[in-house]
Amino acid sequence: MIDEREPDFRIGIGTDIHRLVEERKLMLCGVYVPYPAGLAGHSDGDVGLHAVIDALLGASGMGDIGTLFPDTDDRWKGVDSKELLLIVKERLEEKKWEVINVDLIIHAEEPRLNSVKGQMKRAVAGLLGIDFTAVNVKAKTNEGFGDVGSGQAIAATATALLRKKRRRTL
Ligand code: MG
Repeated sequence: MIDEREPDFRIGIGTDIHRLVEERKLMLCGVYVPYPAGLAGHSDGDVGLHAVIDALLGASGMGDIGTLFPDTDDRWKGVDSKELLLIVKERLEEKKWEVINVDLIIHAEEPRLNSVKGQMKRAVAGLLGIDFTAVNVKAKTNEGFGDVGSGQAIAATATALLRKKRRRTL
């Protein structure tokens, strides 16, 4: 039974950062982005999807990506992060959470992501089974500052809003 005192809406935030290394494919929001380096990590290193996952887990009060998919577990070694997001989507459905919108920033000095933002948006919306307009993807450089600015890493920040699905009585 759904507790009527629980709020209808919940907001969550997620961030992630991975190191850029040679001989890895650069995956951002489930989209392959041609570039001479990719993101290191136990999984495919997709910072965009990892930030979205943490925002969704945060909003639903279900913890964080590291607890759900620990990097000490070989099941998640080299895993496609799209699979992780689909698992999280199932958990949200079980708990009757509906995704209202996702907003995402990719922080990268290089490559410039303007030409792939639309694809990333479509990929995230498709994975979550929500309308294209409910996902927003922004790309920012770090103006040369820090590990992102020097091109050593790519980071991401995401927020997500969820609504509890309730049985409406007429
Ligand atoms: Mg990560």
